[in-house]
Amino acid sequence: MNLFFFFSLLFSSFFNLSVARGGSPSSINASGVVNGSFAASGRHLFADMKVSLAEQLQLKRLEELAKDYMSNSDLENALMSLNSRCSGISRVYSIGKSVHGVPLWVMEISDKPGKEEAEPAFKYIGNVHGDEPVGRELLILLANWLCDNYMKDPLATLIVDNVHLHILPSMNPDGFSLRRRGNANNIDLNRDFPDQFFHMNDDPGAHQPETKAIMRWLEEIRFTASASLHGGALVANYPWDGTENKKNIIMAVQMMKHSNTWLASTVVPIITCL
Ligand SMILES: [Zn+2]
Repeated sequence: MNLFFFFSLLFSSFFNLSVARGGSPSSINASGVVNGSFAASGRHLFADMKVSLAEQLQLKRLEELAKDYMSNSDLENALMSLNSRCSGISRVYSIGKSVHGVPLWVMEISDKPGKEEAEPAFKYIGNVHGDEPVGRELLILLANWLCDNYMKDPLATLIVDNVHLHILPSMNPDGFSLRRRGNANNIDLNRDFPDQFFHMNDDPGAHQPETKAIMRWLEEIRFTASASLHGGALVANYPWDGTENKKNIIMAVQMMKHSNTWLASTVVPIITCL
């Protein structure tokens, strides 16, 4: 399957879901995903729409999910509930624990969860920085959308049947509950991985438990492609785009949203919070 095609499909749905949060929908598409703009508070999210009972229940569930950020136990409950509701296409497993012992739950979504197939495996990680929680919410919404629309919506069915998604909504549950960027040891997990330029990170024993869990995970599963979701800037970073001499300057492709079109500018050095 063409990977670019997959990403285009997946993220077009993904952004639809994000638009649905807190917006006042102008329409609802065939898959039950709300299209609309951010025009009103979440309280009026699904008002004045003619939808079926099944769609109303689905929208109600999404509205509940969108009320505020889930706590770590809410997140765990949401994953377990989703897994029992869609057990035919999902599997929940933990890749380790945070410093404070919170399991790092992963949801696998596929038509054959837990089995190796000759299909691409995609890894998504949210909440690397504890104070950037939007990604964890979006990833739960993505999992819900796939669960609710498998065998109903062609795109959801295409994704579930042809790829394996592994979704880690929160890499940093301790940082989230502490409302800070770093983990419980106040280490920036996004700077804790081995790096071609920073050999201080080469000591395998020095990494944080969350980082070690991710590194073990990468050895166990040969992911075809991956993405981690951060917050605070419209920036896309790519592998190997670090620089040797200035740790905080990263060569990145700056993404600009203009007239509802994502445009990639020329490669420019920018200061990023990622
Ligand atoms: Zn970040």
